[in-house]
Amino acid sequence: MEFKVIAEYFDRLEKISSRIQLTSLLSDLFKNTDKDVIDKVVYLIQGKLWPDFLGMPELGIGDKFLIKALSIATGVNEDEIDKLFKNIGDLGEVAFEIKQRQQGSNILSFLGAQKSTTLTVEEAYEDLTKIATSTGERSRDIKIRLLAGLLKKASPLEAKYLVRFIDGRLRVGIGDATVLDALSITFAGGQNFRPYVERAYNLRADLGNIARILAFEGIEKIKNIKPEPGIPIRPMLAERLSDPAEILDKVGKTGLVDYKYDGERGQIHKHGDKIFIFSRRLENITSQYPDVAEYVSKFVNGSEFIIEGEIIPVDPDTGEMRPFQELMHRKRKNDIHEAIKDYPVNVMLFDIMYYEGEDYTVKPLPERRKKLESIITDNDKVHIADHIITDDVNKLKEFFYQAISDGAEGVMVKSLAPDSIYQAGSRGWLWIKFKRDYQSEMADTVDLVLVGAFYGKGKKGGKFSSFLMGAYNPDKDVFETVCKVASGFSDAELDELQKKIAELRRNEPHPRVVSSMVPDVWLTPSLVAEIIGAEITISPLHTCCKDQYAIGGLSVRFPRFIRWRPDKSPEDATTNTEILEMYKNQLKKIEENPTDKGT
Ligand code: ATP
Repeated sequence: MEFKVIAEYFDRLEKISSRIQLTSLLSDLFKNTDKDVIDKVVYLIQGKLWPDFLGMPELGIGDKFLIKALSIATGVNEDEIDKLFKNIGDLGEVAFEIKQRQQGSNILSFLGAQKSTTLTVEEAYEDLTKIATSTGERSRDIKIRLLAGLLKKASPLEAKYLVRFIDGRLRVGIGDATVLDALSITFAGGQNFRPYVERAYNLRADLGNIARILAFEGIEKIKNIKPEPGIPIRPMLAERLSDPAEILDKVGKTGLVDYKYDGERGQIHKHGDKIFIFSRRLENITSQYPDVAEYVSKFVNGSEFIIEGEIIPVDPDTGEMRPFQELMHRKRKNDIHEAIKDYPVNVMLFDIMYYEGEDYTVKPLPERRKKLESIITDNDKVHIADHIITDDVNKLKEFFYQAISDGAEGVMVKSLAPDSIYQAGSRGWLWIKFKRDYQSEMADTVDLVLVGAFYGKGKKGGKFSSFLMGAYNPDKDVFETVCKVASGFSDAELDELQKKIAELRRNEPHPRVVSSMVPDVWLTPSLVAEIIGAEITISPLHTCCKDQYAIGGLSVRFPRFIRWRPDKSPEDATTNTEILEMYKNQLKKIEENPTDKGT
């Protein structure tokens, strides 16, 4: 397949922002894509070479390097390219101009002769892969030679999008949700097949893999898809409530009550003698936890399985739970052997999704837990989460306080009903989190995405010191603003953030950000922060849930930064509907306890 096709679609896609038009154009591109490269095209349009969970290296090529390659490819000297770059501000556009200038002066093309070589998707993909993966002493030379070769072969439009891809600055805002819609339309005949495609994606979070199955085997295969060890499952998520009686009612009176540990969620796969560990946001974190991989190989029986638990820091002497921050310290250590020794961890398992060819996500929780318990050999590293089964509100409260005094965050109450399946990729009432209250009127924190930044005034002049934060709207696949946060950051965190902003800044709003405020710089949605505030209010300044209330959107009042959530991707941020629900719960509370109002 010619790379030209993709470049032309990039060009068209970048000019539209309507989700419906994006989806239909994307579907058009998939129709024009050779089956053999459909997975690659899916990754490329999202600015990637492969799914994140593979843990493969990124291209990691900066502007300087690109300028050098462009200079070798075109014969134009680096200073001149640099000057053009300073004027235009976009290297992709610079590449386009230089290549077009050259093409215009080429007598053959002037006479209408065709370019003799065509760049194919396969070729571009292969070279980009080599560029990303080459390591060692000579890798710099190899990378520059490959890059220059690609740019030399490319047409002006191809060069523009190759450069933007490599630079990480594609202006096409296509999220996973839009790809799923387009795949359903292309290969299953319409949006009404979307639930099947979405379920498949929830069980195998690899859009390229799903696209390939659809292209080669069709929708029937997708309908019967099972998880596959090695490809992460999108995690099941919990709703939140703060009244124990209401919680037991919601789960059908009797619930399994687990400790809610404060560690790192680990989805652990075994495939033959290989172990993979995926994080909450499905990144491959196996190399950070070789100790966990070893414990699981030793103490969990079976050759093919997918299980889930919380990796928690423990005291090396007593085996007691330690604070979550210890995991952060562990990650900062360069020497993994030292990290394992200084910050040992245990694994508290709470679910099983696949075992020896059988899909456990469709089985109710009692069956899953029974299976999980049956495959663990007694040991002091890998345990089943501490739990009780109860229908008694007082027992639930007691267990909750016990959990907190043991250092847990609270409890997770889980339905044991016949329909209590593992709902991959969705947040529902089968699991309800009941957490220690923060000293705030907001019942829980929210996780918001950084979408813009403002310069500070006075002492903080010249530095970015307040930040525009957005919630995720999964229906529209966009980020809507909720607040501007300026407090809660330590000086070190602010300094660190300046560097990150330099990498994420862009000249125009990101196509997936909906904002009525205009920050000093726009940012590519990437970083997720946990935020607490006094309450949720309506504000004309913000766009979250704007269609719900005539006078404005929903906003967090007096927001304060708590911590970064590197384990969450932007699409894992709190959604607009969750914020709406929190707002409604807050109103309900005020109505029930009018004296609390305004306190
Ligand atoms: P999300 O609900 O989106 O995961 P979050 O991380 O902000 O967001 P939390 O309030 O931390 O939500 O609760 C969910 C997390 O609790 C899970 O992702 C998991 O890592 C952790 N957890 C700890 N113990 C358990 C348990 N026994 N069962 C399920 N999850 C648990």
